[in-house]
Amino acid sequence: MRRATITVRAGGLSLRRVATYTVTMALLASLWLWLLSGPVWAASASVVYRGPTEAKLIALTFDDNTTVTPALATLRALEKDKVPATLFVIGSAVAGTPAINAEIVKGMSEGLFEVGDHSWSHPVLKGLSSSALARQIGGGVDAFRQATGARTVPLFRPPYGSTDARVAAVAGSEGFSYLVLWDVDPRDWAGGSASSIASHVISHAHKGAIVVMHLSAQHTAGAIHTIVSTLRARGYEFVNVSTMLKGERLFLDVDGGSQAGTAIARLVRLGFMSGYDGNYFGPADAITRAQVAKVATLVAGLHTPQVDEGRPASYADVPLRRNSAGQALAYPYDFVEEASAAGLVAGAPGPDGAMVFRPNEAITRVQLAQILARMARQLKGYGSEGTAAQALPETGSGAQPAFADVPAYAAADVSLVAGLGLMSGYAGAEFRPWQGALRAQVALAMSRYLDLPALSRGN
Ligand SMILES: [Zn+2]
Repeated sequence: MRRATITVRAGGLSLRRVATYTVTMALLASLWLWLLSGPVWAASASVVYRGPTEAKLIALTFDDNTTVTPALATLRALEKDKVPATLFVIGSAVAGTPAINAEIVKGMSEGLFEVGDHSWSHPVLKGLSSSALARQIGGGVDAFRQATGARTVPLFRPPYGSTDARVAAVAGSEGFSYLVLWDVDPRDWAGGSASSIASHVISHAHKGAIVVMHLSAQHTAGAIHTIVSTLRARGYEFVNVSTMLKGERLFLDVDGGSQAGTAIARLVRLGFMSGYDGNYFGPADAITRAQVAKVATLVAGLHTPQVDEGRPASYADVPLRRNSAGQALAYPYDFVEEASAAGLVAGAPGPDGAMVFRPNEAITRVQLAQILARMARQLKGYGSEGTAAQALPETGSGAQPAFADVPAYAAADVSLVAGLGLMSGYAGAEFRPWQGALRAQVALAMSRYLDLPALSRGN
C-alpha cells in the first residue's frame, strides 16, 4: 500500500520570506493536518503587525461593531469608494446591531469586506484562564455566522491588542491562523477630527501597513474618502488582510508545496474545483455529495456545457433550477444527472418511495471511494479479473490492504481505490469509512485519478 504524509499548512506565511516580511510570527504557525495517518493538532496563531513590504498594499481594519450610526456611515463610505476592509466583530454586540450586520453582508457580497474575530465580549485577554480564553476567542465570528449565515475568516484581533503566547496558542487551537495586530494607529476612538485621523493614516502609510480604526468612532467615516483618494493617487492599493498575507500564493489556507496543495492548485486551474473566494479554499472542510458529483463529472470528462432540460429529474431532491432570468442552472442538477447516468453516483429510495440523492449531505470517505472505484473501472478499465494487482507498478507486492472497518458491500471498491493509491487508510488497518471526506482529500484523490493511465477505454 502506498502511503504519503500530506500536510496542509493553514498558518504559514512562507517561512523563507519571514526575514524580509518584517512579520512577527509566533513560532512556526503551521497547522499540520495528517490527513492520512495521524492526529490533527493546531499550532499557535501567527502574530502579524504588518504584511509583506514588497508591494504597495495597505489594509484598513475596523473593530468594535457596537454603535450603529457611525458604523453604518463608515461601512457606506468604504462601499462608496469600493475599499476592501477587514472587520473584527465583537460577538455580544452582534444580536443588537442587525443594521450593521446587514451592511457588512452587503459589502461582503460586493467582494469588499471580510469578517474576523474580536472576541465574544471584548475583555483584556492576558490573564484570563485558558477555558475563559477559549470561550472568548471565536465568539465574535460564531455570533456573526449565526446571525447572518455568512462565511468568516480565521483572523483574530485581541481586544486592546492585549496578547501573549498563551492567547496566540488558544487562538490557534480555536482555528485561527493569524492574530492580527497593526502598525498604524490614528487613535480614532479618542474623538479627534476626521482630518486629523486622515492625516495620521496618510503620513504613516507604507507598503504592507495594517491600519486599525473603529466602527464605533464618531469621525472615522469622514476620514475614509480623504485617506483612500490620497493614497490611491500615490499608487497604493487597498486590500483586506487575507489578501495582503496571501502574497503570491493561490490560497492563504493552502500550503502550495504540499501534495494536497499541488493537487488543489491543479484542480482549481483546470476549473474542476474552486475556492470560496480569492483567498480561501477550505482544505480541511467537508464537501457535499452534490459537490463531489460535480467534481467527478468534470474530472471524468462527462460534463457537457448545455444543460439537458429534456430529461426527467432522476432524484426528487435534485430538480432542475433556474436563475432569475429563467436560464437552467447546471449545478447541481446537470452534474448529478450526468454522474448518475454514467453510473458514478447513485441515490436511494426516500421515505415516500421517490428516489433521492441527498445532495447537501457531507460525503463520507467510503462514498468517495465508491465513486473513484467506479471511475477507475468504467472509464479506465481497472478492477476486473485481477487487473488492479497487475496495474500497480509501484506497489509490486500485490498485497491489498485489508481494512477491518470497511463494510462488506464496499470492500472491493475500497481495496481497488487503495491499491491504485487514490486514497489511503490510517494506521491500524483503519479506513474510517464513515468519516467525512475533506476537500483536500477529494482534490488529492481526483488529481491522482487524472494521473492514472487508462488500461482500456471503458466498457
Ligand atoms: Zn476593540
